[in-house]
Amino acid sequence: MNKIPAVSSSDYYRIEELVDITSFAELLEGYYKATGIPNGLVGLDGGLITQAGWIDACTHFHRGNEETNRRCVESNCTLLEQAHNKKVSYSLCKNGLYDYATPIIIEGNHIATLFMGQLLHTSPDFKHFEQQAEEFNYDKAAYISAIKQVPVIPKDQIEKQLDHLVQVTTTLAMSALSSIRERHLQQALKDSKKQRIEIKDLLDNSPVGVSWCDDAGNIEYINHAFTRMFGYTLEDLPNVMTWFTKAYPDAINHDEIISRWENWANSDHRLTEPFIDERTIRCKDGTTRRVAGQVSAINNKRLYICTDVTERWRSEQRNLTRNKMLERVAKGDQLNTIMHHLITDIESENPSMCCSILLLDAEGKHLISCAAPSLPDFYNEAINGVEIGVGVGSCGTAAYLGERVIVEDIATHPYWTPYRQLAASAGLGSCWSEPILGSANQVLGSFAIYHATPSTPDSGDIEQISFAANLASIAIENVINHEELIRSEQAYRSLAENAPDAIARYDREGELIYTNPNFEALFTNNRSENDSYLEHYHSVINKVISTGIPQQVEISIPTASGHCYLMFNIVSEENDDGAGALAIGRDITLHREMEQKLEKQARTDFLTQLINRGHFFELANREILVASRYNNPLSLIMFDLDHFKQVNDTYGHAIGDLVLQKIADVSQMTIRAADILARLGGEEFVVLLVQTNHDAAKQSAERLRQAIARATISLGSNETIAVTASFGVTTISFDKGISHTINHMISDADKAMYRAKQEGRNRVVCV
Ligand code: GH3
Ligand code: MG
Ligand code: MG
Repeated sequence: MNKIPAVSSSDYYRIEELVDITSFAELLEGYYKATGIPNGLVGLDGGLITQAGWIDACTHFHRGNEETNRRCVESNCTLLEQAHNKKVSYSLCKNGLYDYATPIIIEGNHIATLFMGQLLHTSPDFKHFEQQAEEFNYDKAAYISAIKQVPVIPKDQIEKQLDHLVQVTTTLAMSALSSIRERHLQQALKDSKKQRIEIKDLLDNSPVGVSWCDDAGNIEYINHAFTRMFGYTLEDLPNVMTWFTKAYPDAINHDEIISRWENWANSDHRLTEPFIDERTIRCKDGTTRRVAGQVSAINNKRLYICTDVTERWRSEQRNLTRNKMLERVAKGDQLNTIMHHLITDIESENPSMCCSILLLDAEGKHLISCAAPSLPDFYNEAINGVEIGVGVGSCGTAAYLGERVIVEDIATHPYWTPYRQLAASAGLGSCWSEPILGSANQVLGSFAIYHATPSTPDSGDIEQISFAANLASIAIENVINHEELIRSEQAYRSLAENAPDAIARYDREGELIYTNPNFEALFTNNRSENDSYLEHYHSVINKVISTGIPQQVEISIPTASGHCYLMFNIVSEENDDGAGALAIGRDITLHREMEQKLEKQARTDFLTQLINRGHFFELANREILVASRYNNPLSLIMFDLDHFKQVNDTYGHAIGDLVLQKIADVSQMTIRAADILARLGGEEFVVLLVQTNHDAAKQSAERLRQAIARATISLGSNETIAVTASFGVTTISFDKGISHTINHMISDADKAMYRAKQEGRNRVVCV
């Protein structure tokens, strides 16, 4: 057994003697992990006992600079001083962050100080911190990013958190203190050679509950603290079995404790090992308390020593309740389910009460039943949808005013006039209602505690109802946020999934992290053997990721029927893990095909589909350049249909058009693939013959003349039309260094053609 610390009036216990510092440090570490708020425990001598969490703003900046460090220390000293005066305090240190400190006081003695911080109450004013960075020569970007990590917690919340932690610490220390005192008492009982009457005096003044019985179970003594704790006197409890029946009315508890007790009482080890038990005990007035008790066999007596651990037990239960609720929220459980369990947990603290949670509707005017598992259905149905207002029971009034409403007696309170009958049918005597307030102090609903008989809340009850309403608020806001996140995600997803564009996102490594169905369709439907286009596309993605500069890229994917053209706009995009890229692409195949068609139309003669005059000049100029560079001969044939006016006059313009088309086809089939045939205008055509000398050109012209003369155009009724044409031929060569133009060639050929007309038509004349 550990050495029992001595009690002395002048020198009170140190916190290290009362709580197990290693486990306590774990608890504070856990608290830091759950909340992100750094904390520390400082002993009376100013020494740091435990410490959890540092923020970068502190370690990397404020503590590293002489002036800002001085400010930190100054703020801490002020807080410590206040704590020594037993005051909860906070201070805004000159570096712009808040520190909190609260003394831990046991029986009026200050035994340690709990610190929290550093933190902010509202979102940081970055201008201020940027100025601070300049003033102290910090790396501005790193400092601002450290400031962004500082937890932002409203003042009233941090105060509640501090209260809660101090409560846990105090309860732990108190229960340790009680057990130290118990041990002193046992020691005193064993050691005492004095008269029992003196011991009784001592025991009657002890804050610990003490009682003893003989080995037959007859209770002989109960001290004042025992009676204060449970209300029972020696008359109420003649023997141990009566105690068990009164203290443990619940059959399971009752049977279990008796069987454990009998086992211990009959065992050989009872003299060396005490009987230890912690259980909820029913007091004489019907309330319950959590009690840690220990029975030791001393000579032929059984000494029972017990401590009220209700506070510690409640705070453990509430931690458990809070953790279970947060787990359910994180798991994405339905709000009604979360609230149902929350109520069951709260009710388990005190089986004589029933709880209900009502939520304010979207309009902010009506209360909707959310969870009330212990209230009768008819009651919940009747309350569902009630319009809030002053005088609408406890909850309607609390939700309307945004304030706690305590109705101790439903039967007489004016707020309950309209619902008196209903409450009586449900067996309800009192109703305390706490508004559930959101983080912006807006009313979200109400948390109510009902009792069957008129009841007045004590400070523990008020603490319990505000704890429950606070948890309900956390659950509601989390569920709402979660639902909103899902809704907005769904909205964006639906936008992306239904957009006509192909959308893809890439992480900072250029790895694909999202594609919409259209992107999939474009890339998978158009998969081809040759995927060199992909290489180009990815190189642009990587360029955007590394430079942050937006890019446009067009890729053409070869397909079975030609090409598919995609135009992508690629921009850099902040993802969770840094800058990635967002690519939005569109299938522009139709657009490209249309462009190509227009381009072709601009080069083609509409009637004959031959090259038109403009395009012929472009091609001919290019051929003249090639011919001059390689010193190749180049020839040109020009021909014009003979007496074509007559064809039009005789058969009409439409038939004239057919004739022109026929002549174009025949000519195209007659010339070589490399030769360039064009319609210059009207019924006048031209052929440029590359690498062709004068004789060969003359022969070509002759072949053309014959082919045209042979061609016939049938008019349906056995009638056919035949036409002839007159040809002018010119050839150029570059061996004498002469330069030529296409206009000269055409002009020369035209002259020759004119001569052919004059000489009787249907003939070839060379220059
Ligand atoms: P010549 O042997 O002297 O060349 O006699 P011609 O009748 O062919 O002479 P002219 O140049 O006077 O007439 C050419 C005619 O070609 C005039 C015009 O009506 C006709 N023509 C020109 N372009 C078209 C066309 O696109 N379609 C039709 N059907 N006729 C056309
Ligand atoms: Mg003509
Ligand atoms: Mg003509």
